[in-house]
Amino acid sequence: MLKRALLHLLKNAPPIGPAPKWQARLSSGPQFTEGPVLTKPPKTPSGLNIPIERRDFIHGSGLLGLGLGLESRALSSTEGVLHPPTYPPSLTGLRGSHPGSFEAAHAFARGGLALANPKQDVDHFDAVIVGAGISGLAAAHYYRQQFGNDKRILILDNHDDFGGHAKRNEFHQGGRLHLAIGGTHNLEYWQFSHTVNELMGLLGVDIKSLRAQSEFNYGRTGRHAHSIWFDRQTYGRDQLIKGCSLKGPPSASPLPYLDQFPISAAARQELKQFYEAKTDCLADMTADARSDFLHGTSYFHFLRDKGGLGKEALQLFARSCHGSWGLETACLSVAEALGEGLPGLNLVGESADESDWSYPAAFFPDGNASIARLLVAHLIPKITDQADATTIATAPFDYQYLDQPGHPVRIRLLSTVTDVRHTDQSVSTTYIADGKPRQVRSTHVIMACYHSVIPYICPELPERQKQAQAYQIKYPLMLTNVLIRSRQPFDLLGIDGTTCPGRMHAGLFLMNGINTGGYRHHLTEPGATVVAFWGSLSPPSTAVDLRSQLRASRQRMLDLSFEDYEIEVREVLNGLLGNHGFDADRDILAITVNRWPHGYSHEYLDLWDDDYPAGQAPHEIARARYGQIAFANSDAGASAYTHTAIEEAFRAVTSLASST
Ligand SMILES: Cc1cc2nc3c(=O)[nH]c(=O)nc-3n(C[C@H](O)[C@H](O)[C@H](O)COP(=O)(O)OP(=O)(O)OC[C@H]3O[C@@H](n4cnc5c(N)ncnc54)[C@H](O)[C@@H]3O)c2cc1C
Repeated sequence: MLKRALLHLLKNAPPIGPAPKWQARLSSGPQFTEGPVLTKPPKTPSGLNIPIERRDFIHGSGLLGLGLGLESRALSSTEGVLHPPTYPPSLTGLRGSHPGSFEAAHAFARGGLALANPKQDVDHFDAVIVGAGISGLAAAHYYRQQFGNDKRILILDNHDDFGGHAKRNEFHQGGRLHLAIGGTHNLEYWQFSHTVNELMGLLGVDIKSLRAQSEFNYGRTGRHAHSIWFDRQTYGRDQLIKGCSLKGPPSASPLPYLDQFPISAAARQELKQFYEAKTDCLADMTADARSDFLHGTSYFHFLRDKGGLGKEALQLFARSCHGSWGLETACLSVAEALGEGLPGLNLVGESADESDWSYPAAFFPDGNASIARLLVAHLIPKITDQADATTIATAPFDYQYLDQPGHPVRIRLLSTVTDVRHTDQSVSTTYIADGKPRQVRSTHVIMACYHSVIPYICPELPERQKQAQAYQIKYPLMLTNVLIRSRQPFDLLGIDGTTCPGRMHAGLFLMNGINTGGYRHHLTEPGATVVAFWGSLSPPSTAVDLRSQLRASRQRMLDLSFEDYEIEVREVLNGLLGNHGFDADRDILAITVNRWPHGYSHEYLDLWDDDYPAGQAPHEIARARYGQIAFANSDAGASAYTHTAIEEAFRAVTSLASST
């Protein structure tokens, strides 16, 4: 996640603090300018089915070639609870919110799921944790630290893998393991608190050595660090313009390249005047008025009214923040958009520095999935005999140990929690596994799932707390990883990534150069490589306010089939690389679509949220301990980061300790 790097440039703008607006200005916010229409090509173009079969073959044989043989190992069934029949990280197709992970929750929330007579689990646990993301796993660690290593903990998650957004994608091809990031990427270490640093120390994560071993920089490592790819369906012709960016440092300004943009002459002229301007259109304002303007004005209105851009020029920027925010750019204020690196500082008397674009990165090759794996190895040592931070990326994990009777920590996957409530002596948790309701009792429950689902699950919570939890609507995100046969076409073009203002995924980059955790894939290594397509999904133009946009975008993401995503990546790769020896039929080896309808936590936005006194912001009300139930997850910190997920786990466990 790459975000808000340039906020300090807005000298007169105060930091964007939490500013929730409860009953939000949902109808009085800015009108959205629709991005380019997403055209859905005809189904089943020629050759589409052939590579899928070949990919499956390559995929399976690669595993055997590595000697892992994990595909064939069906995981055990524990007390009637089914576990995934395969090794989940190596599954391709629709991942993230994969089929089978969300249907029970949706059916339950819509009242269509019978939960009568749940089967009672024989075990009583000290803590049940709902959600096996980073926050739930960290909560298990803190719980043991707080209450003792002998405490019995059950972690329930609706997915077939642990980690939540910390999702590991594996591809096996030609006897080689290719790792990719399916969700959370970067350790934003400069924001780490003492608590987070301490946990990283315990897990052996050394940021300095991660940084020293990594060459990855979101595809900005080719001969041409910046480029824009205009596609035929949206702009009339396929055209890669190298050397410039719509959201980049001064040296990548599009100004010298505008004549090449496949848009109308009028739109080019508007952009030319906009980029050439050097003025301060707010010069007459007091500091307060200036700040109000920057934080209270929609960026798109600013581009239109102060920058002179019409609809055609505006649409170029519509999806620029899909990856970094999971939002349409039209949702952002001027301050947020300029802070993000979008153009316009030149209209408010400011200028950016080249160095503002150097973004510190500390990566494992599967992103923060390695943090999840380190946590699991710490909680359940038997799962791997090799895992420390220097080997975690390639350490084999034996999933049969996740849920073993007799072990103090158990992780039960494919288990959707539907009801949590206090009983006489304990808390009872009902969950659905294999289509059937089951019930387990514990002294404590920690809800480490996203907050908007909690009001459905915890009926006894005060209404105010439920409303606060429902306020947290996450931003949808997609990370589609495509294994291609060779990186040579990228080398011929001189790029390691590009942005695609007209396409479903707003950007793509080669996922290589992360040589950490015992894994090596050097930046320029020839041969097969993973291309990561990154972005969100634009909502239909009928959704005009933030929340209806987020809901519509989420639904759209779930409605698309794997084939829709496959068609999209084939078209993009053929259009971008087709003249340089790439042929999707031959060269795409595997596709893993990580869709995250519930992606980034809601961070308070200038245009959509209000100021709240300390302690009264929705996330603060939402996370208050209720009896023996505590609330973790990055939602509890209203901040979409791995370190927030950890901090909130710590806070949640500490709140339970104060209640005993
Ligand atoms: C694509 C993407 C990229 C990101 N990039 C970064 C990054 O680079 N750096 C960074 O710091 N952060 C990043 N993030 C933010 C990320 O959300 C956090 O870093 C962190 O992973 C959140 O962890 P969590 O445990 O709070 O939530 P989650 O990972 O969402 O875990 C919660 C778990 O609870 C499960 N759950 C929900 N309801 C139920 C139920 N009823 N029963 C059982 N289980 C349930 C969920 O399915 C999920 O598995 C990214 C997020 C996404 C989606």
